[in-house]
Amino acid sequence: MISWDTKVAAVGGKDAKKVDRFGLRTVGDLLQHVPRRYIRKGDIDDPGSLREGDHLTVFGCIVASEQKTWQDKRTRRTAWRQEVVVDTGTSRVDLTFFDRQAGMADWRRKKLETGGYGLFAGQLSRWRDHWQLTNPDTQMYPPADEVADAMQGVPDLIPVYPASSSVQSWDLQETIKLALVVVDGFPDVLPEDVRRAEDLVDVGTAYRWVHQPESWAQVVAARKRLKYDEAFVTQALLARRRATLEHTVTSPRTGRAGGLLDQFDARLPFELTAGQREVGEEVLAELGQGRPMHRLLQGEVGSGKTVVALRAMLRVVDSGGQAALLAPTEVLAQQHHRTITAMLGDLARGGELGGTADGTRVALLTGSLGAAARKRAMLDVTSGEAGIVVGTHALLEDRVDFSDLGLVVVDEQHRFGVEQRAALTAKAGTPPHVLVMTATPIPRTVAMTVFGDLDTSTLRELPSGRAEVQTIVVPEQAPGWLDRAWQRIREEVARGRQAYVVCARISAEDTDPDPGADESEARQLHAVEQLAPDLAAGALQQLRVASLHGRMSADAKERVMQDFASGSVDVLVSTTVIEVGVDVPNASVMVVMDAERFGVSQLHQLRGRIGRGSHVGLCLLVTAAGAASPSLERLAAVAGTRDGFELSRVDLAQRREGDVLGKQQSGRRSSLRMLSVLTDEDVIGRAREAATAHLARDPRLEQVPDLAAAVRALEESERADFLEMG
Ligand code: ADP
Ligand code: MG
Repeated sequence: MISWDTKVAAVGGKDAKKVDRFGLRTVGDLLQHVPRRYIRKGDIDDPGSLREGDHLTVFGCIVASEQKTWQDKRTRRTAWRQEVVVDTGTSRVDLTFFDRQAGMADWRRKKLETGGYGLFAGQLSRWRDHWQLTNPDTQMYPPADEVADAMQGVPDLIPVYPASSSVQSWDLQETIKLALVVVDGFPDVLPEDVRRAEDLVDVGTAYRWVHQPESWAQVVAARKRLKYDEAFVTQALLARRRATLEHTVTSPRTGRAGGLLDQFDARLPFELTAGQREVGEEVLAELGQGRPMHRLLQGEVGSGKTVVALRAMLRVVDSGGQAALLAPTEVLAQQHHRTITAMLGDLARGGELGGTADGTRVALLTGSLGAAARKRAMLDVTSGEAGIVVGTHALLEDRVDFSDLGLVVVDEQHRFGVEQRAALTAKAGTPPHVLVMTATPIPRTVAMTVFGDLDTSTLRELPSGRAEVQTIVVPEQAPGWLDRAWQRIREEVARGRQAYVVCARISAEDTDPDPGADESEARQLHAVEQLAPDLAAGALQQLRVASLHGRMSADAKERVMQDFASGSVDVLVSTTVIEVGVDVPNASVMVVMDAERFGVSQLHQLRGRIGRGSHVGLCLLVTAAGAASPSLERLAAVAGTRDGFELSRVDLAQRREGDVLGKQQSGRRSSLRMLSVLTDEDVIGRAREAATAHLARDPRLEQVPDLAAAVRALEESERADFLEMG
């Protein structure tokens, strides 16, 4: 009997071994490998009346195939070009494929051998009097005597599978055909009532139709079912997590009148915004309950999330517990440590001369701390003398032991995964409260999928008195514009202000991490190690210029940041290490070099470093991107608004799914295949409701064993991903 978990080899057929080596080990793996798209046989074009720019699908025999190499001017590396001629029976079309890696070029050469039959789809262009498709989608078929014969074997709707050179889409199609005949049953993750309410086809039909559709209607119905399955499994896992949390008991942290929080509030140098007050109340109320808080705090760059977190931390310390603040970078951890210590003043000097009687201590724990400092910090953490512990992922290490960890705050969540949060919460005796903060607005669907176990609060307003920031796109080639930018920095410094200059690279030798970038960008990017001395000796001669980047030691980074914060450095030339959270209100100008190299959210974050005080800010996005390039559009969007929520929409529209979800959700075969967190908000929402309702009736998923198994598998794959991330 052949079941879902049976090895693919048992299916038989000549290609089973190849398919197994391709990574599809079991029948389940194979059948879940669904077509990327379909081509309708009737859409195959007869290249009779061609127009440039047409989208063309042709079927034919390769009559010539030749590989050539050329030199990429920018990377100074060898690149490959496969030139192919296809005979469609009535005419000839040239195909050109570009590759930048030897492995890919090899693969391409083998795949496109003379005599092979294939389908090729792409946009038509005209080059040297020939019609040509550049990098067309390709699907190869087994050899035949004639084009017409080969065409016979092609179904009306041709599934196009993600394939490789050793396993053609065709091989997959054959093995899948066999598997569908011999497989005995399909795992069914949907309760029958949910299936009916959603009007979905049964799971066996869905698999048959997705692989061997006879009509578009079948494709649509099949995809609808399989998509819903994915949403339902994810949501069942999250619903179970929420249910578990609801039944978890933890120490309520109710604080005390006249404690550190009250003293801190009394001396706050500003008024809390309405949002800070509201979210603050919400958080304090939750901390006082016997259930662990799990809250996501989204807030525009500069909206003052740190104060909200600090107040929560003080409440926990007032209740005899400890709070940990986890930051994504060393620079940010150091800054948090510095500002929190400064804001608390004598409240942070517990047990020291000049400290208040009930004061606490703020410890800093990062990976590159010296041995002595580390030992001291660890001691403070373990003994409980440090009520607040600020750190990077070094905090996650096994050896870090808290006395009574009551609250975990994670700053800038997008750099931390679910499992990392879990690692830290595992350090507490009773489950701690968790507050996650992010300035990158998270779309509702992603929040529901990835962060589905968190409640959300949002800080929309900025503290009043915040200055405007003007953003201008500066074309690097235009004469005089860049000089004018440096002049603006000199003027601002003359008024007592400070400036950032941001580069995409540390040193000029750094290899371009983006080999896919096209040739037209063949030029050197500005680098910190080159630009800083250049500016210091040239355009910014009279000013105090320092540089900052990730390869400096922790001490050196801390010193530079301190000098910049205290005003003894005028201009900081840096990489994106300052991207998140860095807070120097006196800085008023930012010049971003090679701005097209940065994403929308990243630019928004970077720009958030200025305009934090009352000084009008100026952000200059320097770029050499051509007038018609999409990069320029992106920069214009950033220049056009300071609304992070608006920009996140622009950003999402430009990014791919994987970037949105992060490695955890996208990297694995077992994760989302059909469901798109960008476009399937509807499905996700309905699945969430249905899963929650089902869990209330069937908390252990005993009524749907296949669902229980799928949820378990999803959980395991998340854990495995975490281990891989190290
Ligand atoms: P973010 O939300 O981006 O992390 P921060 O917490 O770093 O922002 O706050 C940005 C700056 O605003 C800090 O200098 C902070 O002291 C200040 N700030 C926070 N809340 C207020 C407020 N209510 N009024 C004035 N300034 C505030
Ligand atoms: Mg912050």
